[in-house]
Amino acid sequence: MTQTIEVIEPATGGVLATIPQAGAAEADAAIARAKAAFPAWRAVAPGERAALLRRIAAEVRRRADELATLESRDVGKPISDARGEVGMVADVFEYYAGAPERLLGDQIPVAGGVNVTFREPLGVVGLITPWNFPLPIAVWKIAPALAAGNTVVLKPAELTPMTSIELEGILRAAGVPDGVFNVVVGPGSVVGERIVDHPDVAKVAFTGSTQVGRRIAARAAETIKRVTLELGGKSANVVFADADLAAAAAAAPGAVFGNAGQDCCARSRILVERSAVDAFLPLLEQAVAAMRIGDPLDEATQMGPLVSAQHRETVAAFVDDSVSVAFRGRVPEGPGFWYPPTVLYPVAERDVVAREEIFGPVASVLTFEDEADAIRIANDSSYGLSGSIWTENGARALRVARAIESGVLSINSNSSVRTTTPFGGVKQSGIGRELGPHALEAYTEVKNVYYAVAES
Ligand code: NDP
Repeated sequence: MTQTIEVIEPATGGVLATIPQAGAAEADAAIARAKAAFPAWRAVAPGERAALLRRIAAEVRRRADELATLESRDVGKPISDARGEVGMVADVFEYYAGAPERLLGDQIPVAGGVNVTFREPLGVVGLITPWNFPLPIAVWKIAPALAAGNTVVLKPAELTPMTSIELEGILRAAGVPDGVFNVVVGPGSVVGERIVDHPDVAKVAFTGSTQVGRRIAARAAETIKRVTLELGGKSANVVFADADLAAAAAAAPGAVFGNAGQDCCARSRILVERSAVDAFLPLLEQAVAAMRIGDPLDEATQMGPLVSAQHRETVAAFVDDSVSVAFRGRVPEGPGFWYPPTVLYPVAERDVVAREEIFGPVASVLTFEDEADAIRIANDSSYGLSGSIWTENGARALRVARAIESGVLSINSNSSVRTTTPFGGVKQSGIGRELGPHALEAYTEVKNVYYAVAES
């Protein structure tokens, strides 16, 4: 009998869809299809591959409303966020449509011949994605992988697979040949591990927890697979006393409660210079109180529910164990996996809530004495993904940005992710970069060819 998965809508607790659940056999079949499709796909003329990627972008834009609504219902994220994410997905396909004709090699001067390098595709790439930003995180991997001539097997999270399933139809409608893009929905412990272990998969790109990322890296070593990992974070939002405190406080809820805090880039440690904390906290409280929390399909909603009842329990356990709830927002009554935005203060560096990724709408406020102390506390973490620095002193902003151990930083802003700029972590936040030109390095291998021309 075919196993099935019930996909639950977080805002209502009801069943959104019942879909077949794949196992190892389906993963093997998808990998075999991708392997068979690879020789013809890599041989497609660069201009033709570019045109195909542009057609995918157009198809995403044509179906934007439907995709955004589905993503909003599946994840519980505000519809305005989902719309922005779908728009970005189309942008990412368009951006990488520029790549096939620009995958340049080098000509390197050598004695007795001509030496050139080529950027070759890897083959079948396995993509394993999480439930928090299902569509964008998948497409940040799919678009550069296809642009470079690889074929793809995508395993989305079982919790939120709906838009990944839709992608198969979108790519088919755009004219992507059979076998080039394959989606397999099944448990990470079965389908994910099969992809990681399979000898015909050349590379795995993973986004998710540091724990699973570590396991994937260890298993992938058996077949010397290429691995890129985008993992957890506990990023710092550093507010100096010389900052525009009103602007910093107004932006702080978005920086940590966006996507209900289920965001690897969440600035969940707010570090405030001690002399400014009494002025900053009331501004932050006002900003949290003003947040619109409710039905994800309402245009005005800024924060929806958590993804599942189980995840809500995990988040609540962190807060229940902490003694420092300073203030919280209000959430709707009734069904749905609601959890209020919560600010903890005072928090000490050693507290669990200052060290572990909670992945929910919980911010820990810590204080620092001076610039050196701010850098020290920001770096006192096993993670290094994102972060913000708020100050009106430009030289300090750049000094601190250089000193914080993190892959992505913003100054007087929350922004982490742009289509055209690299994104990824240091330390236990991961390996490799997505987006921008750097992502292509993760989906190509350099081949060196020497051609002897000297007369013998
Ligand atoms: P996981 O890391 O478990 O899941 C991410 C993806 O990996 C899913 O598709 C999952 O499949 C798959 N997976 C799970 N186990 C394996 C495995 N052994 N081999 C291969 N693939 C596997 O994250 P969770 O969903 O459990 O979330 C737990 C915590 O991880 C969060 O609370 C948060 O702290 C962090 N996280 C970080 C994310 C980020 O953006 N960096 C995203 C998501 C989570 P499936 O779930 O279908 O079984």
